[in-house]
Amino acid sequence: MPRIPSRNTRLMLGITLIAVASVGVAASVFAVTEAEQRRIDADAATLEHLDQLVAVLDSAVGRQEVGLDDYVLSDQPAALSSYQDAVAAEAQTIAAIHAGGFGLPDADAAADIVGTLGSDWRRLIADPAIRARQASNATGIAAFAAEAVNDRAGIDSARTHLTSLVDTAHAALDGRSSVLSVARAIATWTSFAILFVAFGLALILVRRFSRTVERDAREAGVVNRFTEVTSFAGDDREIAAANLVALGRLVHPDASVMHVLNRSMDRAVPEATTGDTVAEVLPLGALERCAGMLRGSMFVAEDLADDLSVHCPIYPATRGTLICVPLSSGERVGAVHLYWSTPRALPLTQRAGVVRITEHAALAIGNRRLLAALQGQADTDPRTGLANSRAFDRAMEEKLSARASAESLSVLMVDIDHFKQFNDHHGHPAGDEALRVFAGVLRSCLRDGDVAARYGGEEFAVLLPGNDRDAALAIAERIRSRAESTIVSLAPGLTDRITVSIGVATTPEHALDRITLLRLADEALYDAKNAGRNRVVVLAPADAAADVPIAHAGRKRPARAEASS
Ligand code: GH3
Ligand code: MG
Ligand code: MG
Repeated sequence: MPRIPSRNTRLMLGITLIAVASVGVAASVFAVTEAEQRRIDADAATLEHLDQLVAVLDSAVGRQEVGLDDYVLSDQPAALSSYQDAVAAEAQTIAAIHAGGFGLPDADAAADIVGTLGSDWRRLIADPAIRARQASNATGIAAFAAEAVNDRAGIDSARTHLTSLVDTAHAALDGRSSVLSVARAIATWTSFAILFVAFGLALILVRRFSRTVERDAREAGVVNRFTEVTSFAGDDREIAAANLVALGRLVHPDASVMHVLNRSMDRAVPEATTGDTVAEVLPLGALERCAGMLRGSMFVAEDLADDLSVHCPIYPATRGTLICVPLSSGERVGAVHLYWSTPRALPLTQRAGVVRITEHAALAIGNRRLLAALQGQADTDPRTGLANSRAFDRAMEEKLSARASAESLSVLMVDIDHFKQFNDHHGHPAGDEALRVFAGVLRSCLRDGDVAARYGGEEFAVLLPGNDRDAALAIAERIRSRAESTIVSLAPGLTDRITVSIGVATTPEHALDRITLLRLADEALYDAKNAGRNRVVVLAPADAAADVPIAHAGRKRPARAEASS
């Protein structure tokens, strides 16, 4: 599957494209207008040429006038050749204007007018005046002096027209030039502006990205430390406390509480709190009314003061921000509530972190429960629900090592009498039922802290911490007599009873270690069997001390105290 780029990558790509496009547009504006720039430059050079020709024409016409005045009126013979040069210069310049092809038809027309008026002026004014001067005809000279100025007016106006034509062409060229400059300036500045905005956006993106990376790293650090703490946590309370500390570091709520359902799943206990929180043990039904629990995922009340805001009965605040996160690991194990006194206190970007940490807490609690359940299964006898021999041995070792030296601890070995016959008579399922009934009898005779176990097929062991020999004998006797009097219902209308034999051993008088104590209790049990069953036997301490492990069969009975016969 093709990888879809992230939103930030797409934004960055977009910004780069816009920047490149803006530079491209500016560059193409310059490229397109370059031709026009060249045309303007060429036109300017042409116009410059025309300008010079007009100036030359102007000067030629002026020099003709001066030359003629000097020759005719001031009688300077040399001025005639200067006049004739100026006439030649005028003709050449007009020819050059026509040949120049300046693209200004009016310039040609104006040059023609200058030429025509000039030749008219020479034919009608200048030439007669020259002839009058050469003939020393004073009347003709006087006529020239009177009219000359008036007759130049037409030529002057044509020349002025020519000059203004050139000026207009210059102005048009300047217009084109400034349009070009404006177009180029707009392209340049627009491109700069776009580049500037793109750069700014890229900067914002990079900062946002680095903030995200920073936040993710911080969150990962908190999650890691939290994971470590939960793996060493001794109980739900430690997990809950660590969870609230981790959430505190991540989102800084003003107050928080974590409720965890107890093992029997009927009460939610506030295992940890922070801030000003009123936390109480809740019945399961109350916890189930939590907004997050109802939704099955994190619920956020952005502003509790808003009339339309949902309120959670577990954390009945009336203003600020509240989030309810259900804790679930396959089954529900509790809920976390985080509270801020200000509205909208939890940014969208931080919500995933809260969910991740609480999920981990739920998982840690669920795992602990699973482990405890598995441990329980491994330590329990499935038929009777009592501890099995493994759990019994472990409990006995623990109690013995924790026992103060003067403290007593007794152990009973209990065996159902003639159970083979019971089975043979009623069938194996009936035997199973009898085992269950007797387990109930055992439970009914014991207190908290005592441990009863099914130690073998129809053999049971009981640990009585803090009970000396006499107390243990009393309890054993209670067990024996209650077993004897208990009716085992086997089928409608079919009942039977069982009896049990019990051997008792006590520390410190019989032995101090588990193996010897169990062996002595077993021997006492054996004696009880030999003595006729349905009785309790405890070895005399002296016999126990002298006792060596030998086969029961044919063993000489030690002196014994019998509680019952
Ligand atoms: P004693 O009075 O000497 O103890 O005689 P007993 O018949 O009880 O002893 P024995 O060791 O000869 O027989 C034990 C019987 O217990 C044999 C076995 O079938 C039965 N038993 C052991 N475990 C179970 C069980 O889980 N269910 C049933 N129904 N019977 C069991
Ligand atoms: Mg038996
Ligand atoms: Mg047995």
